[in-house]
Amino acid sequence: MARDQGKVGEHKSVILRAIPAACKDEGAAVEFVEQLRWNGEAVCPRCGSVAVAQIKSLTGQRGPRYLWRCYDCKRQFTVRIGTIFEDSRIPMRIWCHGFWRACSSKKGVSALQISRETGLSYKSALFLMHRIRFAMASDGATSRKLERAVEADETFVGGKPRHPREEREKWSTKAPVFAVVERGGEVRARPIERVNATTVRAVLREYVKRDAKLYTDEATHYAWAGKPWAGGHETVNHSAGEYVRGSASTNTVEGFFSLIKRGMYGTFHSVSKKHLHRYVSEFEFRYNSRHVNDGDRTLKAIQSVEGKRLTYRAVVS
Ligand SMILES: [Zn+2]
Repeated sequence: MARDQGKVGEHKSVILRAIPAACKDEGAAVEFVEQLRWNGEAVCPRCGSVAVAQIKSLTGQRGPRYLWRCYDCKRQFTVRIGTIFEDSRIPMRIWCHGFWRACSSKKGVSALQISRETGLSYKSALFLMHRIRFAMASDGATSRKLERAVEADETFVGGKPRHPREEREKWSTKAPVFAVVERGGEVRARPIERVNATTVRAVLREYVKRDAKLYTDEATHYAWAGKPWAGGHETVNHSAGEYVRGSASTNTVEGFFSLIKRGMYGTFHSVSKKHLHRYVSEFEFRYNSRHVNDGDRTLKAIQSVEGKRLTYRAVVS
């Protein structure tokens, strides 16, 4: 046990030293991301060849674009090609800074804050953070289905009401976010168009194993949607003031929602429905990596840039 802790401590200190350095110096940042992406053996992102070399000046310096040459397809490339960094002129040290801040603060970090810290324009900072959230988003098709004891619930988040009428009609400014959480495990969350048995069941089918046991509140949409689960379905009646009955609670999923809400209102202030799914992905990512340290969480996020592209248009339009 003690030996394992020593190992983890050592590993942690290496990463925790490398990240601040990568946030200050462009060369260090590029090499940090190259190491994370290629693990010491660079690959041409265009043809997959490993016959590649860094382009250096006569004095052995790398140029300002940190180019590589591929001896097979004869083209040049950088570590940005084929990732969320492609088509961005934002320096790599600022990308590293954004990843580090998003992964090390519990409630997330706003574009306004990143703009102040880095000197990027607000618009560029918003773009940067949306791309980082996009990288953090789990790939629904490959992520494992939740099992054993699974709690499901929905909440309403987003746009603060501008006047009392909107407060009464919360559906008009807030959007429903649906989440399923495995007790002691992972969460899957996303905004849904509307809350009813059909939408809820569709998400449950996508994320939850058939033999899991489902815990929800007594809302009517769960009565039908919860039927196919072989492990059973237990409900807790919130309206009767019943929050915990035996193991039938939805405290875990409510804990996740309170994290989202504190972030939404404390950090981001206003989030449009259009981008809500990106913020939800960010909270999901942090929750699912809550047992690792900030350094490892940052590495995990940066490593998920592979094969992901998000155009500027998709973010600002
Ligand atoms: Zn090539």
